[in-house]
Amino acid sequence: MISLKFYGVRGSYPVVGDQFLRFGGDTSCCVIREAHGDQLGPPIVFDLGSGAIALGRDLVTEGVQTVTAFLTHLHWDHMQGLPFFAPLDVAGTHVEVVVPAEYGDVEEVVIKSLSPPLFPVSPNQRPGQLTISPSRTIRHFEDPFCSVTALSIPHTNPTVGLRLDTERSSIAFVTDHQIPKDGRSIHENVAQLCDGVDLLIHDAQFVASDLVAKGSWGHATAEYALHVAALTGAKRLALYHHDPSRTDRELDVMMENLARLCPSVGLMAARAGMEILLP
Ligand SMILES: [Zn+2]
Ligand SMILES: [Zn+2]
Repeated sequence: MISLKFYGVRGSYPVVGDQFLRFGGDTSCCVIREAHGDQLGPPIVFDLGSGAIALGRDLVTEGVQTVTAFLTHLHWDHMQGLPFFAPLDVAGTHVEVVVPAEYGDVEEVVIKSLSPPLFPVSPNQRPGQLTISPSRTIRHFEDPFCSVTALSIPHTNPTVGLRLDTERSSIAFVTDHQIPKDGRSIHENVAQLCDGVDLLIHDAQFVASDLVAKGSWGHATAEYALHVAALTGAKRLALYHHDPSRTDRELDVMMENLARLCPSVGLMAARAGMEILLP
């Protein structure tokens, strides 16, 4: 079995408060692992938003020593958990962070953001080992036995969508995806990433009325996410990157309205702590 667990599902910035308890307030982070009963394999992480802080604590408690994390891009909400990622403070651990190659010298860019004056200490003063690598189109892993594909998708700065394939299951991670002007067309890389996946995790930050003022801010509506899922044959859709102003109650109402539109896609709203098991 493959286990996917969400640690952060918010876009833009973390939120706290009674209105956000059920879906959670932390920003983008999820982890994929092979699950044999209670035993979990090495983690592959998608994004290190503030949700990565709780993930890091869990991994240290478990004694995990090797972590591979893919960043979709370098907006704060996708990497703000990295400076506080607990495995970096444990001797003998190795954290590899894979960054879209379009950012140029990815090591310099990321290390600068983790060093004074932006953070109290430099990564090389911490006991864990940190490696920053540029992304490749496809990367193969032995454990779990899978491949991760990274392809550029439309957003406001260089951004990749990710797809993880095992022998039996597939997951696409398409967060921060600019809805096209016509609201219908699908970028060829997005179509390739989502093609027939068992689970699509897709940007749903906006509702239709947001597009008037924020139509070029790099995000999609839940309706567009459903459209992508339906046309690419995705079996299940987890709406993701919830707007930080969207309360639990408002997300409930949004889901009730959407469920009537496309009954052929298994629809859910991602929430922190939710775990999805795939064959
Ligand atoms: Zn974002
Ligand atoms: Zn972004």
